[in-house]
Amino acid sequence: MASRPTIVTTVPALRRAVEPFWHAGERLALVPTMGALHRGHLALVREAKRRAKRVVVSIFVNPTQFAPNEDFSSYPRPIKNDIATLTDAKVDLVWAPSPEVMYPDSFATKIEPAGAAKAGLEDKFRPHFFGGVATVVAKLFTQTAPDFALFGQKDYQQLRVVTQMAKDLDLPLKVIGIPTVREKDGLALSSRNVYLSAAERNVAPLLYRVLKAAATRIKKGDAIGPVLDVARIEIDLAGFSLDYLEARHALTLAPIASRKDGPIRLLVAAKMGKTRLIDNIGV
Ligand code: AMP
Repeated sequence: MASRPTIVTTVPALRRAVEPFWHAGERLALVPTMGALHRGHLALVREAKRRAKRVVVSIFVNPTQFAPNEDFSSYPRPIKNDIATLTDAKVDLVWAPSPEVMYPDSFATKIEPAGAAKAGLEDKFRPHFFGGVATVVAKLFTQTAPDFALFGQKDYQQLRVVTQMAKDLDLPLKVIGIPTVREKDGLALSSRNVYLSAAERNVAPLLYRVLKAAATRIKKGDAIGPVLDVARIEIDLAGFSLDYLEARHALTLAPIASRKDGPIRLLVAAKMGKTRLIDNIGV
């Protein structure tokens, strides 16, 4: 049986745990998560292990990236299962701070990302989100000082925002994006999929099917606007409430009118009942 990773919950304990890695010159990779781990998170851990001798997984449901009407208090927290999963995955260290450790009463500094963070996608529907993400990720980076940090392409705008932040702040680490892990029927794995009823779960994979079909048509040369119009109607008819379906420049997330103008990413967010799903695909 693999031995359990060291679990630390305070910054001094984290320092004591990572300092030997730094001093030994061992490469360290960080996988930030909110727990409720699934195969998507494990793909990040696998790539982390490929790149670095030491792997730290953070589990922190970050209150500042949830709006008051969102699911912070009900977000799944199966910590025992998560530790068992990370034991099997042979990670070295689990960093699991409380909100009070991350944000003591005196806390007064916030990172306010622009650029991709203001692209009019997730930020339009969750205006608080990227400020919360950038601030907590900056803290995780400085707390652990990793050589690599692994993020999923599933949260594509987040990946672009975090990559830009690391560059802008000259943080000495490499941010790596990992392709989305999916169920057999195409639904992107997400900790929030447990909220779907059986009927909703049956319909949910349509989102990816529509994205794939749209990407294929755009690749073949069809005009982006009409392709997305049809895709939006298909998503509506399936019973989703669509927040957005957009074609954007894959790096800047700026609107893009034609394949000539650069690599394209299609990004979608839609609610199925109470559950908000996001997905994206390269063209
Ligand atoms: P979360 O716990 O939802 O905050 O996700 C933690 C990390 O796992 C983020 O970098 C996500 O993009 C990534 N992630 C979540 N779902 C998937 C997935 N289906 N495939 C790959 N990465 C994922």
